[in-house]
Amino acid sequence: MPVKGWIEVSDQFCKGCDLCVNACPQHVMALDIEHLTSKGYHPAHLISEGCTGCAICAVVCPEAAITVYREVPVRAAAAGSV
Ligand code: SF4
Ligand code: SF4
Repeated sequence: MPVKGWIEVSDQFCKGCDLCVNACPQHVMALDIEHLTSKGYHPAHLISEGCTGCAICAVVCPEAAITVYREVPVRAAAAGSV
């Protein structure tokens, strides 16, 4: 089963540069043209399922605006705690 991930993009730090959108290997990110941050940028966001939590978007973001989360399968989590 593929790893499931998701991201949060900080409105406070995102400047809509598009780097993360172009870097995402799953093509699940885009700039949100319906939303403006308080600084006047269209922030990046997830547009579909398929994020694997690979964190490439967070690595390329020059503003450190992305937090990546990754779902850990229960069996793997249990194995790690033994
Ligand atoms: S964590 Fe990976 S798959 Fe998910 S949005 Fe970022 S670059 Fe794309
Ligand atoms: S790379 Fe960072 S600053 Fe640029 S659009 Fe993505 S989240 Fe925003």
